[in-house]
Amino acid sequence: DQTHPRFKRVLLKISGEALMGDQGFGLHPPTVQRVAQEVKNVRDMGVEVCMVIGGGNIFRGLQGSAQGMERTTADYMGMLATVMNALAMQAALESLEVHSRVISAIPMDQVCEPYIRRRAVRHLEKKRVCIFAAGTGNPYFTTDTAATLRASEMACEAIFKGTKVDGVYDKDPKKFPDAKRYGDVTYDEVLQKHLGVMDASAIALARDNHLPIIVFSLDEPGGFRGILAGQGTFTRVH
Ligand code: UDP
Repeated sequence: DQTHPRFKRVLLKISGEALMGDQGFGLHPPTVQRVAQEVKNVRDMGVEVCMVIGGGNIFRGLQGSAQGMERTTADYMGMLATVMNALAMQAALESLEVHSRVISAIPMDQVCEPYIRRRAVRHLEKKRVCIFAAGTGNPYFTTDTAATLRASEMACEAIFKGTKVDGVYDKDPKKFPDAKRYGDVTYDEVLQKHLGVMDASAIALARDNHLPIIVFSLDEPGGFRGILAGQGTFTRVH
């Protein structure tokens, strides 16, 4: 691939729901495969790729605690859900002959690697995709915060947040046809206007570490690669 990419190292954050396709729950293998292909396209440009995948397609801590479960236990279940999603993504990447490592914030040596920062950096230098699992390893956080944390630690140049729409809008574009997309927006504006990009702690952490967030549509085939090649529509939070 001869195109000169805009960034050398990025982190792709997707929700667990992005992997469930049209089902209401769990993993939809063709969808996982399609996302893996998008990652391969970018990796093939020579870009070093980190990934953080949520767990909301399987379990969310807040839902569990709403049903009477202790919050921390429910959050650990949510973190374990992200490990399942990470393993599914690794299998899909492997089927495309993309080398990857699942790296968990909670050690589980038989399943994946523990998180050791220098080791993860080394994997990236060797062009292996690093899939960071189990969030931050702490309850009361989200995988958006984990994405910002890992992107900062790995010195990524941007977080790519894959969503169902091609950027950040002033209102829900699926409900309001007159919704307007922002081209650029500041972290503070996202926080003040409660624009649903990521949760507030993730936005604040990105702001403090000067980490731009590129919000784009993961449903657009070739969209991830296109943006790195300088095409397509997206919103840049910076
Ligand atoms: N979680 C957590 N700490 C973290 C990251 C995640 O406790 O650092 C738990 C939390 O319960 C959350 C669940 O894991 O609800 C799944 O993550 P998230 O809701 O961020 O997934 P997404 O919405 O992106 O699919």
